[in-house]
Amino acid sequence: MSDSPIAAALIDWHLRHGRHDLPWQKDRTPYRVWVSEIMLQQTQVVTVIPYYERFLQRFPEVRPLADAPLDEVLHLWSGLGYYARARHLHQAAQRIVRDHGGELPAEPERLMQLPGIGRSTAAAIVALAHGRRATILDGNVKRLMARLFAVDGAAGAAATEQRLWECAERCTPDDAAAAYTQAIMDLGALVCTRSNPACAHCPLQAQCLAYRTGRSHELPRPRTRAARPLRRAVLLLLRGEQGGVLLQRRPSRGIWAGLWTPPEFQDLAQARQFCQRELRNAQVDSAPLPPLRHRFTHFDFELTPLRARCAGAQPGVAEDDRTLWYDARSPASIGLPAPIAMLLRAIDREEMLVLG
Ligand code: SF4
Repeated sequence: MSDSPIAAALIDWHLRHGRHDLPWQKDRTPYRVWVSEIMLQQTQVVTVIPYYERFLQRFPEVRPLADAPLDEVLHLWSGLGYYARARHLHQAAQRIVRDHGGELPAEPERLMQLPGIGRSTAAAIVALAHGRRATILDGNVKRLMARLFAVDGAAGAAATEQRLWECAERCTPDDAAAAYTQAIMDLGALVCTRSNPACAHCPLQAQCLAYRTGRSHELPRPRTRAARPLRRAVLLLLRGEQGGVLLQRRPSRGIWAGLWTPPEFQDLAQARQFCQRELRNAQVDSAPLPPLRHRFTHFDFELTPLRARCAGAQPGVAEDDRTLWYDARSPASIGLPAPIAMLLRAIDREEMLVLG
């Protein structure tokens, strides 16, 4: 049994009420734990499960992942969001094969040298896959610690982060690392939830300072946010002779890096100029489609689709490794941002209706 009373109460609660059948809890290898931890950053368990199962089916070990083209990795990630996670996973797999003989390092410090693995993720891999003491502090655990120890500095501030790490360290037991880590993750996700903590069912109620002082709903204090900026762009939905829609691979930095989207322009005038300059006999709609909005972490992105059609060979937009004609009915294995995938399906359905 654990040497920390908080850990002991958590582990006991987890035995009776925790989650024991998640796909990454079976056959727990460092690789499987790593992939799950990366997918679970910023994404809920219920969303992750089908992505995780498809990903592990295609990439059961680190070597096939390292050998795969990035497009295939992004394709399996399409819809999960935060695509930098997929790019880092792929780069890290290549480094693990090249520098570590295909085995994930077992020490947090060496894990943290790999792309996409921060302090908490490294600790989760070490604790869950190797059963060694390591302290995690993911988003759910931060919220739990802020309430348990009544840490009332603003979320995200350096002093608050440091205090939360100290609290998490204090709770982490010397033994039962895997059981404790899974238990604290589950309590944060299932009981000490963001907007409605179920204090009546919490095994830490007696120790919780926020509960004892009636501040469970006040803590953690939200971060002070600046107003969200709005960025705008025009997407050219260009349909070619064979019915495909022109897509371009985005640069390796910036929004949706490495994914495929229709050509993007600052405004309608630029999009129309492109059609005149690069295409032969293009027909461009006189008015754009209604804009769609996508929410990123720090800003909103408003995309206005403009439809156009062209016939015959188009040397200005010839296919290469950055350009392709995308057929929604036999789609290529490429990474598409979720709103773009939806848009492509919608225009395809609409054109089928017109033809029918
Ligand atoms: Fe969270 Fe309530 Fe438990 Fe405190 S008592 S840790 S606020 S669920």
